[in-house]
Amino acid sequence: MVSLDCTLLNFSEKDLFFSIFENYGNDFEYTYKGVFRRTPPPLCPDCGSGMNHNGYNTYSKKNLGSVKIGRYICPLCGEPGEESREFWESLKKEFFSVLNHVYQILRVNHVSYEGISDLMEAIFPRGKDTILRAFTDSVEKAVVPPLEVSYIVHYDEQFPKRGRSQKYRLTLLDNFTAQPIADELHNKKDPNTIKKSTNP
Ligand SMILES: [Zn+2]
Repeated sequence: MVSLDCTLLNFSEKDLFFSIFENYGNDFEYTYKGVFRRTPPPLCPDCGSGMNHNGYNTYSKKNLGSVKIGRYICPLCGEPGEESREFWESLKKEFFSVLNHVYQILRVNHVSYEGISDLMEAIFPRGKDTILRAFTDSVEKAVVPPLEVSYIVHYDEQFPKRGRSQKYRLTLLDNFTAQPIADELHNKKDPNTIKKSTNP
């Protein structure tokens, strides 16, 4: 990126900005108003003439921040255009994958979803259902070590209440990697239920 217009407020963050935009060529700029766009606007995909800068669109993520992405317009045929916001999407992805990792560590250490939610309130507010969903997704994507490597499985149970009915959350954890292997909600926790859930 050839041009990063800093103000006194964001000057101290210039190294961070450069690391975010390091993959962009010298035809991109981050203006002092915080707009990300091409310095010379791109060519019109329709008629091929040079487009003009045309303001920006704002994309926000609650409690995280927002970005301004430059818009273009063709002076000849009126075709609108917008810069790609790939860097913003990958920043969000990176951020939420760190959160997923935090949930896993807390779950491995037996913190309940309610407890994680209470803690997240101080960092980045998340409801316990959102945490449960993110956790379940990350468990599904987790690469479980192959079975021939002998490993010890830990078993953990929690007793969340759904409405007025008592539920039982049964979790299997790998002894060596401390990664959750399976995590299910059951109505009861008699030996049969446990046996079924530990033998998927
Ligand atoms: Zn055009």
